[in-house]
Amino acid sequence: MSALEAEALTRRFGGLTAVADVSLSIAVGELHAVIGPNGAGKSTLVNLLSGTLPPSSGRFRLGGQDVTGWPSWRLAQAGIGRSFQRTNVLREMSVFENVRLAAQAAGFAPGLWLRRAKRAAAPIEAARAALARVGLEREGIAGTLSHGELRLLEIAMALATHPRVLLLDEPLAGMGPEEGERVAALLKELARDHAVLLIEHDMDFVFAVADSMTVMVDGRVLEQGTPTAIRASDAVREAYLGTDA
Ligand code: ADP
Ligand code: MG
Repeated sequence: MSALEAEALTRRFGGLTAVADVSLSIAVGELHAVIGPNGAGKSTLVNLLSGTLPPSSGRFRLGGQDVTGWPSWRLAQAGIGRSFQRTNVLREMSVFENVRLAAQAAGFAPGLWLRRAKRAAAPIEAARAALARVGLEREGIAGTLSHGELRLLEIAMALATHPRVLLLDEPLAGMGPEEGERVAALLKELARDHAVLLIEHDMDFVFAVADSMTVMVDGRVLEQGTPTAIRASDAVREAYLGTDA
């Protein structure tokens, strides 16, 4: 069964339709990449799937349950974890505290926070496990991390909430090739027990890690399929990848 299913998701901003009738489905064990030029609607799609923005129309299901219109805290509890395109880390706090706070924040919700607060050890354990999983076993304040380490920290912050679905908006932005390889290995590993939606500009990276892909142009789905099918698509080549892709 699909962990995540979007059906004709649409988001308008005034006269602009940033996301238009986008349908996709991702299973646990699958890494689905969304590509497309700047302004195609990729980040808006992630904002819809994380509850940061409500859709104008369309439906969205998690593990078969209709969660359309749920606020982000409720979606986080239902298994959506996201990293942000813009760095979202408190730099003056320790690496560990950042992850612990993320784990704890996922427990705060009307009516739930008291019950969760009684299990105070849980966020600490979740934070340790998440940092170990991304391989960031580093002391000190977050402000001293390299750019690449910060992106790993953001993934750890998402993992600390025990998501089933991971939404990653350009996790490679600003990384060097070595760090990129480390993240590629991590994403493949995370895709074994999560449904991963990845937005990424680096096409070599995307084609190396993705199991399935959606190509967006002007808010719409231009093409969906395996990396092999996307590479072979004339429509994609013309609209986006360039003739030598
Ligand atoms: P991408 O991530 O693919 O580069 P975005 O989802 O950021 O694209 O943006 C898609 C379109 O929606 C762009 O034209 C952008 O200017 C517009 N847009 C995104 N967010 C907002 C917003 N909050 N208000 C108005 N327009 C927005
Ligand atoms: Mg974007």
